[in-house]
Amino acid sequence: MGKARTNGRGLGAAAAGTPQSPEAEIYHKIHVAIAEHRLLPGARLVEDQLGEVFGVSRMRIRSVLHSLARDKVVTLQRNRGAVVAHPTVKEAKEVFAARRLIEVAMAPDIVRAADDAAVRRLKDHIKKEKKGEHSHDRAFELKASHEFHTLLAEIVGNRVVVGFLRELMARSSLITAIYERPDVSSCSHLAHSNLIKFIERRDAEGLAAAMLQHLHQIESDLVLFDRGEQPTDLKSVFAGS
Ligand SMILES: [Zn+2]
Repeated sequence: MGKARTNGRGLGAAAAGTPQSPEAEIYHKIHVAIAEHRLLPGARLVEDQLGEVFGVSRMRIRSVLHSLARDKVVTLQRNRGAVVAHPTVKEAKEVFAARRLIEVAMAPDIVRAADDAAVRRLKDHIKKEKKGEHSHDRAFELKASHEFHTLLAEIVGNRVVVGFLRELMARSSLITAIYERPDVSSCSHLAHSNLIKFIERRDAEGLAAAMLQHLHQIESDLVLFDRGEQPTDLKSVFAGS
């Protein structure tokens, strides 16, 4: 569950070892390259070069780039083609402010809506997060940790809010990938297990306070500064991947 990202086709749903279409595999490799900071914001993703690197047609590369653009990982620019999205510090702060507005306000609804099955679903998801944290696959780990937040909205069942949150999570995931400190991962299964405790106790106020603190912690663990642009050699970025 919770796999339906904004691309709707699960291209980003790349768990290690799952057989995938070439497009899904390339999507995942580009996502990993961004999460591992081999591809930096503003880096140009040239169709011909990527086609050569991955041994597929330009059509396939174009379809991957469109999926990445839908997930706001890539920006399509009229004269320059696709570039890795470059969320500014201002945008990053706006995304976190929006998350606080929605996710903290949702606390009473979560507590009201979470039955035993929902709590089980959340606890099952924690297992996936642990797997992600041990996988050394930062893109998979980021996806699993962000999915926990979307899952909370899914429990409430307001589809408008779920839609908002999916977009915010896609953007938040990219912001985290770009601006995180290498040694810190505050959106972790530990923090999420703590949130589940408040849900089990039916403590809406406690959940709201813990969520606010969690989101503040994630944001304060990022190193937000505006970066310049650097030329990127796509062949060396994907060498051996
Ligand atoms: Zn989190």
